[in-house]
Amino acid sequence: MTAGSDALLALYHDFLSGRMAHATLLIGEAGIGKKTLAGLLAQGLLCTGSGDRPCGQCRDCRRFAARTHPDALFPAPAPREKTIKIDALREMIDTLSRHALEGGRRVVVIENAERMTPQAQNCLLKTLEEAQEDTYFLLTADIETALLPTIRSRCRVIRMQPWSQERIAELLRGRGIPAERVHALALYCEGSPGLALQMQEDESYWAARDTVRRSFLSVESAADLPGAAQVLRDQKDAGSRLLNILEQEIRALLHEKLAGAPLEGEEAPSRWRTAPPESLLNILTAIMDARRQKNANVGWAALSEGLLQTISEEASKWQV
Ligand SMILES: [Zn+2]
Repeated sequence: MTAGSDALLALYHDFLSGRMAHATLLIGEAGIGKKTLAGLLAQGLLCTGSGDRPCGQCRDCRRFAARTHPDALFPAPAPREKTIKIDALREMIDTLSRHALEGGRRVVVIENAERMTPQAQNCLLKTLEEAQEDTYFLLTADIETALLPTIRSRCRVIRMQPWSQERIAELLRGRGIPAERVHALALYCEGSPGLALQMQEDESYWAARDTVRRSFLSVESAADLPGAAQVLRDQKDAGSRLLNILEQEIRALLHEKLAGAPLEGEEAPSRWRTAPPESLLNILTAIMDARRQKNANVGWAALSEGLLQTISEEASKWQV
């Protein structure tokens, strides 16, 4: 078990036993589940239902979920702004200076706390130092070092680890996502369940994957080049995405070769599984080149055909 999940278990234990720290900072990659966890903890702190908290049924849970609970505060950037300014913190402090509206606990959830300006962070620091017993702060951040060390030292810091592929696959299957997508999502979401769910709902992502299959990955010899080029012809706007997906596929194949761990399910066409690592590396280099050319405004038709050419030269060396 990783240190991260031990810390998570300890956090959960303290939550259940009513010994939550007054300030908790959840750190980890985007999409890993920090906001979901912060939301569950905050809701659990406010929940007045019986049994497991949060119950999801009581008046407090329902109001929290609707973001209308008077004792749940969410300092956030003002509309059309990217940073959380000091005004948002002052408003929060003003609310905290009054009694809890419902007379019980209060929670402050600051998502992406690294968006706070330095002034806002200093303002928060004072609040953390003077906070009352019944007030709980839950912060999330992708980048730990973007927060003042003085804030971090006031918080219980929980570093959330990427999820395993098996755990993500389990979550996705539980949501009724088709098996043929579960494998690809678990493989490419980089341990982030949030990203996996986002990718699942993004139909343009699946269309782009299909395009990559019918073009780059369909090339076995020079005879396949015109057809593949035809598929790519009107895909200029999706160019970056297609290159990214192709790179993911090749990296997964390379990983399979080098780690000797066969991937479950059929990802790349079977002929690609016979490609030696050197060949896959050559194709990765060609993808990087294509990306550089794209940034240098080389036309999509020319660069995609160059890449197809490299793939066909490599593929002609593979043993079937
Ligand atoms: Zn409840």
